[in-house]
Amino acid sequence: MKSELNNPHNYLGKYFGYETFRPLQYEIIENVLNENDCLVLMPTGGGKSLCFQIPALMKEGVAVVISPLIALMKDQVEALKANGIEADFLNSTQNYGEQNEILKKAESGNLKLLYIAPERLLANNDLELIKSLNVSLFAIDESHCISAWGHDFRPEYRKLDILKKTFPDIPVMALTATADKVTRRDICRQLGIPNAREFITSFDRPNISLTVLPGRNRMKQIQDFLKSRPNQSGIIYCLSRKGTESVAEGLVKMGFKADFYHAGCTAEDRSRVQEQFINDDLQIIVATVAFGMGIDKSNVRWVIHYNMPGNVEGFYQEIGRAGRDSAKSDTLLFYSYGDIIQRKRMIDDSEMPEEQKEVLNAKLERMRQYAEAQHCRRKILLSYFNQDLESDCGNCDVCKNPRSGFDGTVLAQKALSAIARAEEKVAMGMLIDILRGSRNQQVLRNNYDKLSTFGVGADLKFEIWADYISQMLNLGVMEIAYDEGHAFKLSEVSWQILKGKRKVELANFISFDERKAIREAESAPAKQQKDFFKNELFEKLRILRKEIADSAGIPPYVLFHDSTLLEMANEKPIMASQMLAVSGVGELKMKKYGFTFLKAIQEYMGELEKSEVPAEIIKEIKPKRVKGQTTTETQLFFNMGMSVEEIAQERNLSVATIAGHLVKLKEDGADIDLRKLTDDWTLDEVKKAIEATRFQSNSPLKVLFDHLGEQIGYDRIRIALAVLGES
Ligand code: ADP
Ligand code: ZN
Repeated sequence: MKSELNNPHNYLGKYFGYETFRPLQYEIIENVLNENDCLVLMPTGGGKSLCFQIPALMKEGVAVVISPLIALMKDQVEALKANGIEADFLNSTQNYGEQNEILKKAESGNLKLLYIAPERLLANNDLELIKSLNVSLFAIDESHCISAWGHDFRPEYRKLDILKKTFPDIPVMALTATADKVTRRDICRQLGIPNAREFITSFDRPNISLTVLPGRNRMKQIQDFLKSRPNQSGIIYCLSRKGTESVAEGLVKMGFKADFYHAGCTAEDRSRVQEQFINDDLQIIVATVAFGMGIDKSNVRWVIHYNMPGNVEGFYQEIGRAGRDSAKSDTLLFYSYGDIIQRKRMIDDSEMPEEQKEVLNAKLERMRQYAEAQHCRRKILLSYFNQDLESDCGNCDVCKNPRSGFDGTVLAQKALSAIARAEEKVAMGMLIDILRGSRNQQVLRNNYDKLSTFGVGADLKFEIWADYISQMLNLGVMEIAYDEGHAFKLSEVSWQILKGKRKVELANFISFDERKAIREAESAPAKQQKDFFKNELFEKLRILRKEIADSAGIPPYVLFHDSTLLEMANEKPIMASQMLAVSGVGELKMKKYGFTFLKAIQEYMGELEKSEVPAEIIKEIKPKRVKGQTTTETQLFFNMGMSVEEIAQERNLSVATIAGHLVKLKEDGADIDLRKLTDDWTLDEVKKAIEATRFQSNSPLKVLFDHLGEQIGYDRIRIALAVLGES
């Protein structure tokens, strides 16, 4: 029994329904159990919370978690409670009475985790509040807030050094998703934990796909993207408040459930929109960067950047809000030269000191390199965080559709000579019009239609030229004068190309439709068929989840993550043991919801069997019943604390059969306490009967049954014999 309580793995399965730890989680937990301090650096969605939640469950007393975001606190506590863990929070939204009640609960040892906002913890500058508690550990979430070097400095975090000073023996865990070396060192210094061990996991999030699309016809492209994703939650980030409003309006007109969110909305509107989004009542949030901090919603299936962010850190954090449940998720970035120009202008026109402008421009440049990448985008992204990916990721648009190259020297010469003849006064749009021979007003007014280069590139569509010219800019074929209306300028390199002394290699253009077609062709028919049934069942389970979540008053993703539902739809468990094997189904959730989902899946399979779907296909998708599983199934229910009668009812078997299973399991060495199934009176009666009849282990049970006047059933006699045999 002791070893079971000492093993973090058992807690992982029992409370969270997960099979294996993610990298470093186990090591971190062990470190805390050994009473050592540590600093944990993991990306958003990496699984930081488990690192303090499991030690909190395993250690005596209550774990105090410092968290700056009230919304996040509430979310985490809700999710913990849904897993059957005693947790609560203290913050300024509660009145005195409520807070007192929670504290009492913590004092009496009935709480495993207590979340506190830093200002609440340090009110009156004393720690009286927690001195009366038996604290098992301190976890400081978002710990970069303590450092002025971090990106979100909060002065109230500075006072947290008092924790280690007051409680030198209690382990402190600092957790963060963003901290460079300097910030990390600062965090440990500020918290007074200079010897803290550092645990840093990879920043890779392989379940998130990366795609960059040319920033034209964005609404149409979004519409196409959404068509294949009905009911999937997502976020669209825009640069401006106005942008969010107009994109949301456009989506609503197209028939989508969308709303906007920015710092200019009233607090009421913001919390309404957020609440609807969290509860799956609103599919799409169109927002500025004001949205997302502290949103724990795990089933955000996609993130779109309508405009390009100004730096890689921000971009990575925003796309990181997709797929926290590890299920497949998609991200799209729209990119156009115009975005770079707009961003650059914002920086250059601001009142900032020159050095800071330089830093921001350099960061913008890194973002541009990402958007224009000709090789694996994830490699570029991770290299930004000083991480090396060994091979290409296979889950970005460049990896999926590597572009073939071609000799683009002639195209470059056409573009360059048009620039020269237009006296280096034209920007992207006009240059393409000249090349394609468009007779629009602007062209005519400037007499560009008289140029010898007018129409030399009429064979290529506008979007193709735009793509090639972007590539040329990237290669330094020409330059751009931001202070002259972004007119193109010729450089030394340009002249070399014009004179035929230098070649230009371009990557072939691939349109959005072509990319889509390639993707669709990739999935074979058999897989498509299987996918169809998976999706149909997923949809049914999703609706069931929403119904149960609404009546329980919790967000659907707290009930089960999307990844859990997907696994159910994929594996189609029809037995409880199969259901418990699904990642994310712990014991409490199995008891509370598992059976309802099990029935829904059984029903779905039943309907399929009655339908016209060919039997071979059903056989293909149906899970196999495992032989000899029946006693294991009983053991599982029993371990979950169900009585023999309840198990019999749930399994549609007789009480005697279930009792038989349990005795057999016990005889086979399973850890089952049969005492719970009997009582002293029965044991006494059976004992007397054994003596009176000189009962032997090989005598028929009927001897005892008859002697006891048929008062005690065979199942109860078997159990009593097993218990008596032990003692
Ligand atoms: P973070 O705090 O690092 O942003 P969370 O702790 O919220 O991330 O974890 C992100 C998601 O991953 C949660 O839904 C969590 O339940 C899940 N998760 C954490 N650890 C595991 C694991 N070992 N196996 C499966 N899922 C996990
Ligand atoms: Zn890649």
